[in-house]
Amino acid sequence: MNYAARVARVRARMDELGVDVLLLSVGADLPYLTGYEAMPLERLTMLVLPRRGDARLVVPRLEAPRVAERRDVFEIVAWDETDDPVALVARLAGRPGVAAIGDQTWARFLLDLQATLPGTEFRKASTVTAPIRMVKDAEEIAALERAGRAVDAIAVELRAQPFAGRTELDVHRDLVDRILAHGHQRANFAIVAASEDAASPHHEPGSRVIGDGDVVLCDFGGTMDGYCSDITRMFVVGDAPAALGDVYDVLRDAQERAVRAAVVGTPCEDVDAAAREVISAAGYGEQFLHRVGHGIGTEAHEDPYMVAGNTTPLAAGHAFSVEPGIYLTGRFGLRLEDIVVATDDGPRRLNEAPRDLAVVA
Ligand code: ZN
Ligand code: ZN
Ligand code: ZN
Repeated sequence: MNYAARVARVRARMDELGVDVLLLSVGADLPYLTGYEAMPLERLTMLVLPRRGDARLVVPRLEAPRVAERRDVFEIVAWDETDDPVALVARLAGRPGVAAIGDQTWARFLLDLQATLPGTEFRKASTVTAPIRMVKDAEEIAALERAGRAVDAIAVELRAQPFAGRTELDVHRDLVDRILAHGHQRANFAIVAASEDAASPHHEPGSRVIGDGDVVLCDFGGTMDGYCSDITRMFVVGDAPAALGDVYDVLRDAQERAVRAAVVGTPCEDVDAAAREVISAAGYGEQFLHRVGHGIGTEAHEDPYMVAGNTTPLAAGHAFSVEPGIYLTGRFGLRLEDIVVATDDGPRRLNEAPRDLAVVA
């Protein structure tokens, strides 16, 4: 990854927005610009990136050995246990008129910084970074593609696994193992929800034993070389309950339409609308409880969101999920999810595992 080029793009946008300094702590912006991820600890780690001049990574002395310093991007300033890191950040920041601070920075650090820099206006760092991070370059798309291929392979493997007699938690653990075995460094989530449990879109896998006739939702993903995967496939044990196939056909059609709608220049909200139209026409509009998709990159959920109200036009390099769902309380829930990249040649799926309702033992 070319961190110096990313920093240059960020600085150009700081110029545009009149932001004097960017302050990044925990969260995905810091690794995006430096290759280093801050530990979510009470000891402050913070990149101080002024519009002009040298960037410094303020880091606790004991964390410093883990930081790969990139002289073309930043230098390390280590602080000792009895130092005041907030005062250090304030000093390195100068007296900025406008500072943009990482959205996930702990409130205690922001409050202390505000007290130390009373003349500074604080804004969210995402106003600077989100439009840049949204557009993936070829290297990032290749990374998303590799992660996508890994979860595709797992989805195919699952088709040959028995589900009956196992708990949701057992299948969940199996998925986590496979996510790691297939080259992810991190398993981010593995939702396994059988029949009525799947009517809750983010069900926590539990001790429910999967049995004959159950329809099982598996939504899983991890992080591979810094980039995320995310896929949902549906499995049915033995004979499908009546009407399941019809509802699934609606869902599949909705997903297909939304993917096809994801053409460069189209507002993000139209991708959501394309799926919603199909599902509503079939009478399940009220049972499609969430937006159709989220951006994906170094974070599993990031901009751009495919949701009503987001008029951002799709640009080449936007990567996002298309995952309509239909949730029938007390019966079952269905979701189908692929990652899609908008390209000048049209929408391109990064997941190609079979999308049918897989019959399993
Ligand atoms: Zn495997
Ligand atoms: Zn998912
Ligand atoms: Zn997703």
